[in-house]
Amino acid sequence: MAERTKYILDEADLPAQWYNVVPDLPEPPPPPLHPGTREPVGPADLAPLFPQALIEQEVTAERYIDIPEEVRDVYRLWRPSPLYRARRLEKALGTPARIYYKYEGVSPVGSHKPNTAVPQAFYNAAEGVTRLTTETGAGQWGSALAFACATFGLSCEVWQVRASYDQKPYRKLMMETFGAQVYPSPSDRTAAGRAILAENPQSTGSLGIAISEAVEQAAADPGARYALGSVLNHVLLHQTVIGEEALRQFELAGDTPDVLVGCTGGGSNFGGLAFPFLREKLAGRMNPVIRAVEPAACPTLTRGRYAYDFGDTAGLTPLLKMHTLGHGFIPDPIHAGGLRYHGMSPLISHIYELGLIEALAIGQQECFAAGVQFARTEGIIPAPEPTHALAACLREALRCKETGEEKVILTALCGHAHLDLPAYGAYLAGDMVDNELPDTALEESLAALP
Ligand SMILES: *Cc1c(COP(=O)(O)O)cnc(C)c1O
Repeated sequence: MAERTKYILDEADLPAQWYNVVPDLPEPPPPPLHPGTREPVGPADLAPLFPQALIEQEVTAERYIDIPEEVRDVYRLWRPSPLYRARRLEKALGTPARIYYKYEGVSPVGSHKPNTAVPQAFYNAAEGVTRLTTETGAGQWGSALAFACATFGLSCEVWQVRASYDQKPYRKLMMETFGAQVYPSPSDRTAAGRAILAENPQSTGSLGIAISEAVEQAAADPGARYALGSVLNHVLLHQTVIGEEALRQFELAGDTPDVLVGCTGGGSNFGGLAFPFLREKLAGRMNPVIRAVEPAACPTLTRGRYAYDFGDTAGLTPLLKMHTLGHGFIPDPIHAGGLRYHGMSPLISHIYELGLIEALAIGQQECFAAGVQFARTEGIIPAPEPTHALAACLREALRCKETGEEKVILTALCGHAHLDLPAYGAYLAGDMVDNELPDTALEESLAALP
């Protein structure tokens, strides 16, 4: 067979359905609880925040959900996304492993986030919602939702974590170009934000605080709803287009992955790639090791507790059973902003507890070294988040070099770094430090679990 490096599907091969992994699991994940009654939340509890279609997808027992044609039309602007074989990286490493990466940086905002932003905006618009509120950390999710809202004629308001609002002016400009309003969080526009500012006027914010602000605004306006870019079941569901495409591309390549790695912030790009492969694994059709990689400074799966906790800082969201560092936890300012969340998708947490996936944490210096090596061989500068997956991929490839094993490695390259280059600047200048999370800080934060 001729040596190919790029596996492209036709537009006609764009998946027609999303895949819901829940019915294929040996047991279902524990339900979200109402923070007041501690009873499982019902659809009525969620109705002020989400449209009916998404509430149904959150709890559905269906294995496959049809992707609306209107959504597939927008997906076709950049999907199907390419799968690459990293031949030049393999050669540089001198590894017998075959390395593949599924690249989501071809989307309008440079990451996987529009895969869920587009259907979320579509279902809200279809149910008559006119305004969406959300938070953003690194700015990727805010950009994706701003783009999706522009597509379906919704207004969009984004609370951007103060630290990144100040450090990342280009993300803010991208959101504004797509027509969104962007506020730094904590802001004085909400009770949650004012409470934080009263305690600490210099607060640089956190994702948990920004979520509280966006949720508060949506709940107060009957014409508004809230949109979340990760963590929830319906978000991971939408992201499974990534894995479904990758499965078909592996057929084209005539190969099967032995190891699949992805980075986890809230778990959506990882779940999106991994779940269709997990289906195949549970059905006995392949047997890849599936490995989640998180930052050593925010080690939710590897050091967090599996417990019910709030998704936000103010305690406005339902209680989610997940791996958490505590809802008041504010991680050190590492460069992979998208991985700085105190919790983890309940579905990923559950699958980890079932022993179906592995997890490890890696410090950021090793990650950026991997990112630079990848850029210099493959020509794509990876976003800071997927450098964590690449670092784990390199560890595996170098193990194969020692043992001579010809393993097939698949890694999720969920975005590029064109608006995150200052992080590379810090690495190249030797200014980057590894922030291990001290046990005492973790214990203090976990003591406040509800
Ligand atoms: C948001 C983001 C992440 C983290 O979110 P997940 O839900 O864990 O995927 C990772 N990488 C990029 C490029 C992101 O934009």
